[in-house]
Amino acid sequence: MTKDSPTPRLAPASIAAQALGWIEPVTKAIVPPIHVASTFLRDEDNQFRSGRVYARADNPSFDQAEATLAALEGGAGAWLYASGMAAATSCFLALDPGDHVVAPKVMYWSLRNWLAGFATRWGLRVSFVDATSLDAIAAACEPGATKLVWIETPANPLWGITDIAGAAAIARRAGARLAVDSTVAAGVFTQPLALGADIAMHAATKYLNGHSDLVAGALVARAKDEYWERCRMIRAQLGAVPGAFEAWLLLRGMRTLFPRVEWASRSAMALAQRLQAHPRVAEVLYPGLPGFPGHEVAARQMKGGFGGMLSVRVRGGEQAAIATAARVQLWKRATSLGGVESLVEHRASIEGAGTPCPSDLLRLSVGVEATDDLFADLDQALRAAG
Ligand code: PLP
Repeated sequence: MTKDSPTPRLAPASIAAQALGWIEPVTKAIVPPIHVASTFLRDEDNQFRSGRVYARADNPSFDQAEATLAALEGGAGAWLYASGMAAATSCFLALDPGDHVVAPKVMYWSLRNWLAGFATRWGLRVSFVDATSLDAIAAACEPGATKLVWIETPANPLWGITDIAGAAAIARRAGARLAVDSTVAAGVFTQPLALGADIAMHAATKYLNGHSDLVAGALVARAKDEYWERCRMIRAQLGAVPGAFEAWLLLRGMRTLFPRVEWASRSAMALAQRLQAHPRVAEVLYPGLPGFPGHEVAARQMKGGFGGMLSVRVRGGEQAAIATAARVQLWKRATSLGGVESLVEHRASIEGAGTPCPSDLLRLSVGVEATDDLFADLDQALRAAG
């Protein structure tokens, strides 16, 4: 594909729809081929002028998705990873044992577990803070020792909002980088790098792909510096790369990113408003609702919508919440998020002991079905469980 073509000055939706408009130069195909080769020919003088050596490090099938994602996030470059966890953990493994990091108390649960377990045993010092408070982030930073501030916004599963520009200024003052798990903002509603972050991370498994048929992750960097190269080395050394077919599927999914995600976000907003008035719902957690604690910051840093994720707390507690999830027919009872099909999950069950998630909470990932059908299904399930 034409790898070096300049990024056209187009709206993000147009960039995504045509994946930068790359054309395969030999056949003129408007869709890229899938490169399955695990190894690449060395030049006669022993060089690798193609830039390709071995597929544990990278694969030509990643190029277009990486370039498209870098263009959408306004970054200097992007790397695909085998999973969101592989992408996120490489940001921490690129540090040195003894370094200090700041991370949210409420965040994607598996990464929080990894930080509290593996990363801590490996030698990172981790301070978990209420990341909806800039004061708490600032108080936890140790100037000179803190190397990375990690935030997730909106953050699983309570959708707390962190002020990205404020966190970036705090991290910079401490001599640290700011990395943002932007999975829920989907590369559509928020541009963390423009707000001062150094790294935007995505579980590409979710909205970027959008069809619940692959696992992948991505990092986008503001600058191609030594830290960024370390992240790439970790990917290459661990072989934390997606397969060629997964990368191809991901690019196909990214082409419909904007219509999918904008639809889901509009639908989530409508559902949040209707569920707020539901007699079986105690509370709706959604950044788009004016009464939500992070709403004003979200309204400032999220453009065009508040995303497709919300949670409801069901009257009657844990048993009523589980019984509601048991009775849905259109919604699917499954973990994950960001697909075209709507998912409901009793989140405390999957997070287990120590979770900050209330036991009466159902996490809702809104897909692209008709909003009225989604509401009607939840309504009957809530009433039948009550
Ligand atoms: N970050 C967020 C916000 C997530 O929701 C997830 C997965 O659910 C991850 C990271 C990890 O992504 P993956 O499952 O692709 O490893």
